[in-house]
Amino acid sequence: MQIIEDPEEMQQTGLNWRCREERVALVPTMGYFHEGHLSLIGWARQNSDRTVVSLFVNPTQFGPGEDFQDYPRDFDRDCDLAREMGVDVLFAPQAQQMYPGNHATWLQVPELSKYLCGASRPGHFQGVCTVVSKLFNIILPHIAVFGRKDWQQLAVISRMARDLNMPVEVVGRPIVREEDGLAVSSRNTYLDTEQRRQAAWIYAGLERAREWVAAGETDAAAIKDRLRRFYQGQIPSGQIDYIEIVDSREIYPVDEAGNNALLAVAVYLGRARLIDNILLQGE
Ligand code: AMP
Repeated sequence: MQIIEDPEEMQQTGLNWRCREERVALVPTMGYFHEGHLSLIGWARQNSDRTVVSLFVNPTQFGPGEDFQDYPRDFDRDCDLAREMGVDVLFAPQAQQMYPGNHATWLQVPELSKYLCGASRPGHFQGVCTVVSKLFNIILPHIAVFGRKDWQQLAVISRMARDLNMPVEVVGRPIVREEDGLAVSSRNTYLDTEQRRQAAWIYAGLERAREWVAAGETDAAAIKDRLRRFYQGQIPSGQIDYIEIVDSREIYPVDEAGNNALLAVAVYLGRARLIDNILLQGE
């Protein structure tokens, strides 16, 4: 496995592969690999000739007071895991290489960034879109693989790629969970034992909501209210950031939990802000 820091060297490598008609897959990450990352990498390996994993804790997608400085990092372990997975290139640039002092260009998908994490984290998706488009331009992948855990991110990036005719197929993959249902996340390491125990109720609540819908309850306000009370009972140490039911493609709140309704939540537990989501009907 090659470790590349320099964007120009990475671009040359990507270009060489493209010219040889090798199919290149990119898995963008912020590192501190877990089973969620590894499942994306495994899929990328199986569906391409070359797999690039980018490892970059992107400062521009963190707001003031968020966990950019504390974000968990373990470069050596990540290198070992990527190597074991058969990754061709680990692209790990420095912040100054990605954002020289006078960086002045930003990308946004405002229509899909108004609600959920877009509302709670102003500027977050602008940072995400900008860095992902830079990664697309640097690595020149044919496919880019993202997790559905960050559902809104996947929607935003898919739309950005389509609207701007980027020659990249954006692929979304299922959420990998711990045995008790908690979505695997680098931020789970922030949880103490009691917080970790309560965190399992986040997904349990989403499953309950799906059952309520299956039993005939489709009023979004009623479902959100019931879930809020469920969380207040089961996750007493938690603070709900949002509980929202949105159209899964256009990411705006809906009144009825019909087809394409996505239930998305964000809950603070101690230092960790945990997100999760579930489609209320269908697959
Ligand atoms: P991150 O390093 O947290 O930015 O995540 C990198 C990629 O892994 C993103 O596309 C995430 O959606 C995806 N990801 C994170 N956690 C999971 C998970 N539990 N299951 C599947 N994909 C995930």
